[in-house]
Amino acid sequence: MSSSLYVAGEWRTPHASASREIRCPADGTLVRTVSECDAQDAADAVAAASTAWRSGAWSETPERERGRLLERAADLIERDLEQYATAESRDTGKRIVEARLDMQDVIACFRYYATLAGAHPGRLVDTGDPHSRSRVEYAPVGVCSLITPWNYPLLQTAWKVAPALLAGNALVLKPSELTPSTAMLLMETLTEAGLPTGVANLVTGTGAEVGEVLTTHPDVDLVSFTGGLATGRRVMASAAATVKRVALELGGKNPNVVFADADHETALDYALTAIFLHSGQVCSAGARLVIEESLHDVFVDELVARARRIRLGGPFDAAAETGPLISAAHREKVDAYVRAGIAEGAVLRCGGAAPSDPALADGFYYLPTILDGCDGSMSVVHEESFGPVLTVETFRDEEEAVRIANDTPYGLAGAVWTQDAGRAQRVASRLRHGTVWINDYHPYLPQAEWGGFGQSGNGRELGLAGLDEYREARHVYHNLDPRPQHWFAPAGRN
Ligand code: NAP
Repeated sequence: MSSSLYVAGEWRTPHASASREIRCPADGTLVRTVSECDAQDAADAVAAASTAWRSGAWSETPERERGRLLERAADLIERDLEQYATAESRDTGKRIVEARLDMQDVIACFRYYATLAGAHPGRLVDTGDPHSRSRVEYAPVGVCSLITPWNYPLLQTAWKVAPALLAGNALVLKPSELTPSTAMLLMETLTEAGLPTGVANLVTGTGAEVGEVLTTHPDVDLVSFTGGLATGRRVMASAAATVKRVALELGGKNPNVVFADADHETALDYALTAIFLHSGQVCSAGARLVIEESLHDVFVDELVARARRIRLGGPFDAAAETGPLISAAHREKVDAYVRAGIAEGAVLRCGGAAPSDPALADGFYYLPTILDGCDGSMSVVHEESFGPVLTVETFRDEEEAVRIANDTPYGLAGAVWTQDAGRAQRVASRLRHGTVWINDYHPYLPQAEWGGFGQSGNGRELGLAGLDEYREARHVYHNLDPRPQHWFAPAGRN
């Protein structure tokens, strides 16, 4: 067993002897056995981060130098890309080609934040008074708990670690208990890049035990969490007692709105990747096809035909087009949503079961599924199944399209497909979602903010706002000509 408790610059033996087997969801093969850390381990990691933070070894390092470290980390991940991608594929079951692309995105994220070093130091503020000067400057927040999910393990981590480090914070990272491997590699990389001891720490273990400490500990100043809505609510409540800064990146139930004038072949092609990429385990997956009634029959018939042809397989199967779900429990949850949808009146057009292919029997595969005839009252439409399940709703006009697209407690992402530029802009600006694509689906940029409206979360990752999450604004006001004001009577006067 390899230790997965990285505290104060060393791999430590956890207090308890509990361990967890990480098994590839594609075929059940053992990837590694890691420590199941406990509350005491988590507290030790917070203490190490707190010590490093108070020492100033990193927080007082000039920002440009911190940026250079991010560049070095990016170079090292690039050097070790194959090792990283393989580890990510084996933990998640995703295809190696996708894992490689994810690692490229990780590298781009580190490089982007490196470019911000020294670029936004603060600003002078006009006081309107020649006898005073005023400026806003930034300080790191302090000790940050970074809690991440299993679907894009290192990418979600990079979105937090890169800006947190650039801003000068110390951190404790808790990856999903299912996918810890690339977080372990990252600790090695950051150390090799020259990060001072104790600035980055890693604790594996359950959210219930380790996550609880990381969200309640009085020495933690900020919690950045990516995960499901129910957990996000718990994290927010836990952090409330000590009024920590909280950033939440939660789920989505994202509409993909297709008008009849859209380029047919392109919209069809993208509708498939919108939902079936990574078997729907994407927070911004286009899980709700919202389609103009006149286009419905021909579009959905073709979509069903293509979904039936999608080839499932493991990370290193060159013929596979998408992979398994993360676990047996998750597959059961996805299936329960499909059953509930059918019970509520949805029409199953394809999928709705595990594949019968014996070659896939050891993995947690689920067939690409399309449920037609849906409406917003169905749980499969308004709750996140987080699997390869597409629901279909129809609209008659633009007004109805917007209403259906916004009929969700979430607000993470959405798309609109039309060749009418005016309509594209009108609809895009009315969608209550943090990312809106016009005639596209899925691209994002490290330099553009990512996050949710509504219950998809609060705060933003990426972009300049993603850096601001990790720094405090301090207003420094300097009176150049201080004199008594005598607002209150001076001594000796009645
Ligand atoms: P999850 O079950 O909410 O878990 C997320 C993380 O929180 C895991 O590390 C988990 O630990 C930890 N956790 C669980 N209970 C906790 C507690 N009481 N206190 C602190 N931490 C706790 O989510 P998931 O199933 O891993 O990930 C899927 C979800 O992530 C989906 O809803 C997806 O939409 C969302 N997501 C959102 C974005 C975005 O950008 N908005 C991106 C990716 C994913 P353990 O599981 O190890 O116990």
